[in-house]
Amino acid sequence: MTSDAIQTVRTRFFDTKIEFLKGVGPQKAALLNQELGIFTFGDLIQHYPFRHEDRTVFHKIKDLNDQLPAAQIKGRLREWTMTGEGNKKRLVAYFTDGTGILELVWFQSIAWYEKNLRPNTEYIVFGKPVAFGGRWSITHPELDLITPENENGGFWQPIYPLTEKLRRKFVESRAISRMMRSLLEISRPHIRETLPETLVQKYRLVSKADALWNFHLPQSAQWLHQAQRRLKFEELFYNQFRLIKNKLLHKTEYPGMIFSHTNLVKQFYENHLPFTLTNAQIRVLAEIHEDLKTGRQMNRLLQGDVGSGKTIVAFISMLFALDNDAQACLMAPTEILADQHYQGLKKFADLLGVNICKLTGSTKKKERELIHKQLLDGSMHIIVGTHALIEDIVQFKNLGLCIIDEQHRFGVAQRAKLWAKNSHINPHMLVMTATPIPRTLAMTLYGDLDISAINELPAGRKPIKTVHRYDAHRLSVFGFLKDEIAKGRQIYMVYPLIEESEKMDLKDLMDGYESVSRAFPNVPLSILHGKMKSADKDFEMARFVRGETKIMVATTVIEVGVNVPNASVMVIENAERFGLSQLHQLRGRVGRGAEQSYCILITDYKISKETKLRIETMCRTNDGFEIAEVDLQLRGPGDLSGTQQSGLLDLLVANLAQDGEILKAARQSAEEILNADPDLLQPLNQPIRAHIEHMGKEATNWSRIS
Ligand code: ADP
Ligand code: MG
Repeated sequence: MTSDAIQTVRTRFFDTKIEFLKGVGPQKAALLNQELGIFTFGDLIQHYPFRHEDRTVFHKIKDLNDQLPAAQIKGRLREWTMTGEGNKKRLVAYFTDGTGILELVWFQSIAWYEKNLRPNTEYIVFGKPVAFGGRWSITHPELDLITPENENGGFWQPIYPLTEKLRRKFVESRAISRMMRSLLEISRPHIRETLPETLVQKYRLVSKADALWNFHLPQSAQWLHQAQRRLKFEELFYNQFRLIKNKLLHKTEYPGMIFSHTNLVKQFYENHLPFTLTNAQIRVLAEIHEDLKTGRQMNRLLQGDVGSGKTIVAFISMLFALDNDAQACLMAPTEILADQHYQGLKKFADLLGVNICKLTGSTKKKERELIHKQLLDGSMHIIVGTHALIEDIVQFKNLGLCIIDEQHRFGVAQRAKLWAKNSHINPHMLVMTATPIPRTLAMTLYGDLDISAINELPAGRKPIKTVHRYDAHRLSVFGFLKDEIAKGRQIYMVYPLIEESEKMDLKDLMDGYESVSRAFPNVPLSILHGKMKSADKDFEMARFVRGETKIMVATTVIEVGVNVPNASVMVIENAERFGLSQLHQLRGRVGRGAEQSYCILITDYKISKETKLRIETMCRTNDGFEIAEVDLQLRGPGDLSGTQQSGLLDLLVANLAQDGEILKAARQSAEEILNADPDLLQPLNQPIRAHIEHMGKEATNWSRIS
């Protein structure tokens, strides 16, 4: 057979309908289809467990402790009784292994258990033991008759994603395991190695077949670990491979405009720089300028903490375009942010007589039409806006640079739409993130971009002092605020507001406002929350910006508000209810002027361990990158900035909070292979080629621009 023919046979095996698997049949197949989207052998083998339960050892009842996540005990079931009435009714069975008594408790399916439990019979029991009134019990334990397979323990039970309906139909993890065993037994000759031999050897990876086998049916803890390592590596390798391939495509296939003239840039540097640039700003600008001269399209990510000075970097980058008869645009995810950018850039633009405008959903038709015309004839040099910029009607004379301020909110597709705004040549692209994100997340989300980071704040900026205070200390906090107001400072006081508890939260905010008014009878206050009319919000914000009000009592709507350098104190009420990144983001509202700034985190007296860690982290550091790392460890990547919802990350095995080292190795390997053999012509790299072609969807991405 030719290798193509072999390929076909193998593919077909995994395309086999799941109902043809021994022990499945049409009914169970229908369930698997509906509930888990498993249609074929291939779907089942890739239905990965999300954790494994340790069934390797048996515990003794006398040794139980409540730190155990679960215990496995071999013993004898004695008698049982029914107690309680109505929905308190329960079945309690007594179980012993000779070292003590364990109560097994059922609230559900009582009738079934009453009929089927066998007294004086040996069972293996598994579940979370809880001590109650000096007795150990397990509620709804797993209960198995002793068999030759389980009597010695020694195995790991994978726990699979399941649904309620599957559980009701008794398709639980162990049922999946049984199917998996049937499947693995017949699959071995069909499992292709998906990584080149060189990588398998270099990183001492187990084969794909061994990995699948041991991930689903681990022989031992070591095998399980190796299986996971191998599958994580593979997953991250292909993730990085795709990104780097795209990056190389841009570098080799897509020409970029060459920005060699620097008139405005020089003029700005020599006559108008409002402050000395930080070393980080200078370095980043050099990296960007380098890209703009190569004749290749720039695709760069600019990371920089709040207040690190990205605006001026963005502006100077735009000047490079303007100096070479090209235009520039900046797109932000919200109107408020777009406006903030516009204000920031306009200050600089006015110094040079550069034309700049703003386009958002609320721009009036007449103004909009004028903007469209000016962009087309080239008299408008810079445009700042929201999604409105992407619309087809917005066309440029010669768009040369796109800047996206994105905070994970724009996808690759939107980036591609901006590229298309110049039909002759792709404009250069600079993506800015205001929230620093952990290295691993940056690599997987933005691995197709080159990365620059502003890792230094402007000189003379005093680091914000952050402290933690309990509710009970509010009076002394108020005392401190009075002193700051007396010094002419302004204060933010932030309350949480989430949809689920909106009424309560609004009440808290109003109560807070009341108590602040009482404590500061002669101080003018502002209040701001999402339920207010837009005009009222603008009015309150404007008063605060002008310094007419001294305290701004607000919900998180100010998170992305305007810059008020004189506001030097941020009080965050119920700080326990905010995520770490959000706390950091809020804190970034202060510390913008020359004065010493403060952030006061107020919490309840009783806080969880995790909250304590969040608060401690905030008090210890102002470094957004460090905070992002802690946040990742605490919450996992799925919760960070909605990345999971936006479908940007679909990792099944790897965990970005833990697998940074594997990711680094995978990325390096992908880079090396693509550099040495970009078209995958070497025999050695055929497994990669085959795998990419096999993954139909990815195969399309492979040749796509983005
Ligand atoms: P970012 O957008 O990164 O949050 P900005 O560009 O808004 O930060 O800058 C924050 C503040 O710091 C602005 O008031 C800006 O004028 C000022 N700033 C920026 N760079 C410098 C610098 N090198 N020296 C002094 N002040 C600076
Ligand atoms: Mg900014």
